[in-house]
Amino acid sequence: MSSIRQIIIFLGAPGSGKGTLSRMCVDKLDWKQLSTGDLCRQHVQAGTEIGKEIDFTLKSGTLVRDSVIIDMVAQWLATQVQDADSVILDGFPRTVVQARSFIAMMDGSFENVTLKVYQLIVPDSEIVKRLSSRVVCSNKECQAIYSERLLGSSEWHTKKCDVCGHSLVKRNDDTVEKIHARLVNYHHHIEQLLEYYRNIGCQVIDINADVPTEEIFQEILYYERITQ
Ligand code: AMP
Repeated sequence: MSSIRQIIIFLGAPGSGKGTLSRMCVDKLDWKQLSTGDLCRQHVQAGTEIGKEIDFTLKSGTLVRDSVIIDMVAQWLATQVQDADSVILDGFPRTVVQARSFIAMMDGSFENVTLKVYQLIVPDSEIVKRLSSRVVCSNKECQAIYSERLLGSSEWHTKKCDVCGHSLVKRNDDTVEKIHARLVNYHHHIEQLLEYYRNIGCQVIDINADVPTEEIFQEILYYERITQ
């Protein structure tokens, strides 16, 4: 029997801070994080058959097929969340097809679990700045996130990850061209997703994410207290 009390979706453009905020929630609240982007990159690194297809998609800045993502999520939920109180979905669902499948999964396996959506709102101009200066840990099991703007644009190459000590790299989908493609994709799907959540009566809480992560975290804590 699963002990999950709630599943929380962090909805937001790439670079809106979902990953960094998720890690803070994992560290400070002991929540569990599922990042479909991290899972995709782990498949690519492992060189699996599906990893080869994902690699091609990641390089184009488009979305991985819904069925591939849904299978990954189902497998992760079945094996990774035994004793978690709250589970964060970071970067999933990204399409209405994924959202529908996920709700069906919940109906089957997580019937008394609360579903909540936090929408992280950041202007596109800031997203482009953040992603073009983003640096990540090269260890695919870690993938901690840093900013070239904070580390120093000529020094970040020499720095190591604070979490696991591996070197830092730029993600190959964080180029200006691919950032724009990913933003177009995001805007294409977001209105439909919001409408879907409204239609099924799922609460969507808007958060201004154009502020430091600690402030976003405090706002999440506030909502967690009043929506218990
Ligand atoms: P992220 O790390 O969340 O920015 O995701 C990186 C890339 O992984 C995306 O640009 C997509 O190609 C792929 N990806 C991650 N999550 C999903 C998803 N839920 N649906 C489709 N593609 C995804």
